Amino acid sequence: METTLILFKPDAIEKRIVGTVLQRFEEAGFSIRGTRMLQLTRELLDEHYAHIADKPFFPEIVEFMSKTPVIALALAGDDAINRVRDLLGPTDSTKAPAGTIRGDFGETVMMNICHASDSPEAAAAEIKRFFREGDVI
Ligand code: ADP
Repeated sequence: METTLILFKPDAIEKRIVGTVLQRFEEAGFSIRGTRMLQLTRELLDEHYAHIADKPFFPEIVEFMSKTPVIALALAGDDAINRVRDLLGPTDSTKAPAGTIRGDFGETVMMNICHASDSPEAAAAEIKRFFREGDVI
């Protein structure tokens, strides 16, 4: 059993598809352990995207991720980290197959609907980063 951290990005919020995507996660057998809506600060974004801070597209990501509040979701289930990333599809929505969340709803490499943790270490750090004490059951 693993818990992973998902962020519904501003494109998911603006398209009003959070419920549709969440339904896919629930139908795949995952359980909600915590939710929180928050406006990402520059400080949080610098921390979360530290691994791509040197990329030319970084300022664009900061602008995009700050456009609306995001919804953080802690989701639990067997092999949740890998299986949720499989449900999302590859980072670049234009290369994501139909039937994946990014393939069906994403538009570009940047506007790709959801973030999801990529390792148990990242999941633990990201749950701490986006939730407050007691938010995750
Ligand atoms: P993932 O979110 O799939 O783990 P990364 O950690 O590599 O992917 O990238 C973080 C986010 O940065 C991506 O989800 C995407 O929104 C954005 N991104 C990645 N590569 C690019 C790119 N070449 N151009 C614009 N945005 C990008």
